[in-house]
Amino acid sequence: MTVRTRIAPSPTGDPHVGTAYIALFNLCFARQHGGQFVLRIEDTDQQRSTAAAETAILDSLRWLGLDWDEGPDKGGEFGPYRQSERAEIYRHYAEQLLASGHAFRCFATPQELDQMRRDQMAAGEPVKYDGRGLQLSEQEVQRRLAAGEPHVIRMKIPEQGSCVIQDLLRGAIEIDWQQVDMQILLKADGMPTYHLANVVDDHLMQITHVIRGEEWINSAPKHQLLYQYLGWEMPQLCHLPLLRNPDKSKLSKRKNPTSIRYYQRMGYLPEALTNYLGRMGWSMPDEREKFSLADMLAEFDLGRVSLGGPIFDVEKLDWLNGQWIRDELDAEQFFQRLVDWGLNEQRLQRILPHIQSRVEKFSDVVPRISYLFAGLLELSESDFSDNKLEQAEQVKVLQFALWWMEQNPDWSRAGLFAGLKDLAQKMDIKLADFLAPLFVATAGTTATFSIMDAMELLGPEVTRARVRAAIDVLGGLSKKQTKKLEKEFASL
Ligand code: GLU
Repeated sequence: MTVRTRIAPSPTGDPHVGTAYIALFNLCFARQHGGQFVLRIEDTDQQRSTAAAETAILDSLRWLGLDWDEGPDKGGEFGPYRQSERAEIYRHYAEQLLASGHAFRCFATPQELDQMRRDQMAAGEPVKYDGRGLQLSEQEVQRRLAAGEPHVIRMKIPEQGSCVIQDLLRGAIEIDWQQVDMQILLKADGMPTYHLANVVDDHLMQITHVIRGEEWINSAPKHQLLYQYLGWEMPQLCHLPLLRNPDKSKLSKRKNPTSIRYYQRMGYLPEALTNYLGRMGWSMPDEREKFSLADMLAEFDLGRVSLGGPIFDVEKLDWLNGQWIRDELDAEQFFQRLVDWGLNEQRLQRILPHIQSRVEKFSDVVPRISYLFAGLLELSESDFSDNKLEQAEQVKVLQFALWWMEQNPDWSRAGLFAGLKDLAQKMDIKLADFLAPLFVATAGTTATFSIMDAMELLGPEVTRARVRAAIDVLGGLSKKQTKKLEKEFASL
């Protein structure tokens, strides 16, 4: 048997360090067994998936040196490797599950299901799909089908007993069928859900080991049952521990930058980041902290993964990155890497036109643009005190701008300007007053060239991290305040 592993990211949002962490362990496991590592794009959520996010994932993994053998960019024997191009395949298996009596059609409207949930809550019952589709007679189903009524296909789940999942790291995990929903397999739009597509693809792509994050453990019973229904052998499962913030909560961008691109833009070495990810729940036999991907590939052993939640701590990463810079780069390489990162003619050519009319001598230039080459800024509350708006209002502006920026795919000067101007108008704040806290947050001062140009030059990752840091400098937001603001933001 050839070992085949895969990483199956959904192209929504920024490329996440968690994706790289899982990819790294899959790559190591495959290589250790002389097998193959596949990249599959799980883009069945057509509303949230974007081509730009897919490109960003591929670029980020490549930057980290986590190369795959088959994927949407490379092709391979088991393609296509993008789920949106495989809709017919999933439909075929959904039909097969219907024909074998393991799945059923459900015509319940979203309103009907909402009512069902409300009734269950009112009665103090657990909220779950109640199997109403199973009550329909074959005649009724045919009548509704002929009438073209929208419907989904759901899988049947045993009503009693429990399911036992074997996990390579955790051993047997028992889950009650009562806790498992009659999962939708095919949505009303004809697209599969994650569960159906994932099982079908892992089987057809001959994946032998599914190594993924522990957040998927609860999906495993459904997957195991689908393998049984379809008469297929299930790959071995291995759920890796989730990355955590230093306070042990699940790694989240509110507390830690999670985008791989952020680390790229901040000037970390890809070797060091990959090294750091390799330390997440795993260690070298001799426990040394600094090691290359080649070292890890040579020594990898899944059995050495420990289940205690690995902490992704930027301070530790900084320390490790410093080691790499000091020990692994000679003066020439240090120079070259710095140039490649951003200290190059191309970047200066983009920056200098903004500053030429504002300086009196060359020695003014570098101090005026240094913030474009820096990471997070050293700010304090007093930096914001000359701004017109009250402090609480400034926090609100920063938070709303941040949410808007997180949703905004167009990071051009024009896109930023149009969007932020619109936001200021909706918040009923004069543009200059609205922009002042953003100036301080991203540039450290209001005395710089257009903030939109500065943001465009800084890029989304660093800009957003600075805005997030500024919100903290101004006292931050409690959960309750965040909830309240979220509502207000949504109603704008
Ligand atoms: N598409 C899922 C994700 O975004 C894949 C989970 C899995 O590996 O099964 O993480």
